[in-house]
Amino acid sequence: MSASVIDVFDFCRLAEQREGALAGAELPRLAEEAVDGNPVLSWSLRGDVNQYGHARVAMKVSGSVTLVCQRCMKPFEHQIDSAQVLVFAQSDTEADEIEALLDDESIDVVVAQKSTKVADLIEDEALLSLPSSPRHEVCPDRDAASILEEVRKPSPFDVLKGLKQ
Ligand SMILES: [Zn+2]
Repeated sequence: MSASVIDVFDFCRLAEQREGALAGAELPRLAEEAVDGNPVLSWSLRGDVNQYGHARVAMKVSGSVTLVCQRCMKPFEHQIDSAQVLVFAQSDTEADEIEALLDDESIDVVVAQKSTKVADLIEDEALLSLPSSPRHEVCPDRDAASILEEVRKPSPFDVLKGLKQ
C-alpha cells in the first residue's frame, strides 16, 4: 500500500495523523478549474472514532488556486482555507443510517473504500470549497466611481425617510 493510499477505517481506529502537500497534476480535477493548472494545497488529517464507534477524520485543507474572476474575466488567487469533519461509512445504506443518527449538518458522511487515495479526499474538499461564481472582492481595473458607489453608506436622509414610513 503506497503512502498516498490509506485504509480510512484503520486510520481512524488507530487515531493516526498525517499531513502533506499536493500540487498541480496530483490534483487533476482541481487543476482543471485553475487557470494556470497549478493548484497548491497543504493538508492534514487526524483520525479518531466518534461516540458511536464510527470512523471519523478531521481534515484541514489550505492553499491557493488561480481562478478567473466572473466580473472582469481576469485571473486571481483564490485562497482555500477549509476545515471539515468526515465520518466514513462502508455503504450507502450505512451512510444514510449514520446521517440520521448524527443529525448534524456540519459533518459529512461519506462512503469510503477500504483503500482511499488521500489526494481524492483532499481534492474533494477543495472542490467543494470553490465559489460557484468566483470574483475579486474589488476588481483591480474598475474605475473609482463604481467602487465608491458600492461602498457608499445610506445617507442620513435615506435613513430618515425609512423611519417616517
Ligand atoms: Zn475581477
